[in-house]
Amino acid sequence: MTAESFTGDPLDWRELPVLVTGGAGFIGSHLVDELVRLGARVRVLDDLSTGSRENLAHLGAAVELVEGDVRDRAACRRGAEGVRLVFHQAALGSVPRSMADPAATVAVNVSGTANVFAAARDAGARRVVYASSSSVYGDSDRLPKREGEEGRPLSPYALSKAMDEELARVFAACFGQELLGLRYFNVYGPRQSPEGPYAAVVPGFFAACRAGLPARIHGDGEQSRDFTFVADAVRANLLAAAAPAAACGRAYNVAGGRRTTINELAREIRSLVGAGPVPVHAEPRPGDVRHSAADLAAAGQALGYRPEVELREGLERTARAFGRPPGPRVRPRGPLGSAAPEEAP
Ligand code: NAD
Repeated sequence: MTAESFTGDPLDWRELPVLVTGGAGFIGSHLVDELVRLGARVRVLDDLSTGSRENLAHLGAAVELVEGDVRDRAACRRGAEGVRLVFHQAALGSVPRSMADPAATVAVNVSGTANVFAAARDAGARRVVYASSSSVYGDSDRLPKREGEEGRPLSPYALSKAMDEELARVFAACFGQELLGLRYFNVYGPRQSPEGPYAAVVPGFFAACRAGLPARIHGDGEQSRDFTFVADAVRANLLAAAAPAAACGRAYNVAGGRRTTINELAREIRSLVGAGPVPVHAEPRPGDVRHSAADLAAAGQALGYRPEVELREGLERTARAFGRPPGPRVRPRGPLGSAAPEEAP
């Protein structure tokens, strides 16, 4: 089946039936907010494994939640029924999680993605915009990271996202679908979970500061990342949905446009929440890349994407959402145990 392409510019979102997989999660729920604001009819498919109903509670009946697993083909079919556009965000994130349980990451991120692509095809959806990751650059030490200069994946998570991009290529070739990938670089912002062993670095640092505990930095902290405020990631999704058909069939970098070391990030966050405890350094983590920064030329040209939120402003908005540290500061007891801040892929 050849999907008809979106050519309307700007895309008319009013009453447009869309599916957001993983819509109860961090990035997905912000995307849902924006789609509802634009007047789209939004359905979410989510198994609530790392996301939560709470992230959507403020939207009430404006969103239909289908509770289901992307590994379940019937659930994907229910999710995709009648939709014109799919935003596929559902996945098991985190490099360390994929090191602990590679099979689960591959099952959800690869088989799940194949199910979502197939359900979109069978439902006649015009386009799928799917979440890839900067981790696909793997062991390539070129900077900035440019589409077409990928290295070999360094973790099962990175492999799963590289396989998703291959799946997209094959589905486009075999079925004529419009599939467009977004390689997110360390997205952060309100609602990102600080809980658990796989928490990302930004909410992990905020949580440590709030608790009066030193944030844990893996290695010397001079590794760098290109942090992306969640509103920019959401905007990239909307631009990708409205881009000409010729932009489909590939994946684009989506980033904040500036390289920041983990030590700099820790300093910024400490200065925002007031002088918190000095971070402690732990062993470097296997599977982590040393430096990451995106070239945004392709996303700029094909999608019109440019980041709008600088790191300081994004962190301020995140700090407001996490709240200021409570009352008089408690005495530091040591690093934040197993909830140590992990770097998001
Ligand atoms: P998240 O964990 O907050 O969101 C993922 C959502 O998917 C959750 O709501 C979860 O419940 C749902 N989900 C997980 N497994 C599922 C399954 N089997 N069936 C149905 N739903 C399932 O993570 P996020 O940070 O919002 O990530 C969204 C997407 O962006 C993911 O594909 C992730 O790999 C990708 N990504 C995120 C970052 C980042 O920095 N946050 C970086 C690169 C790529």
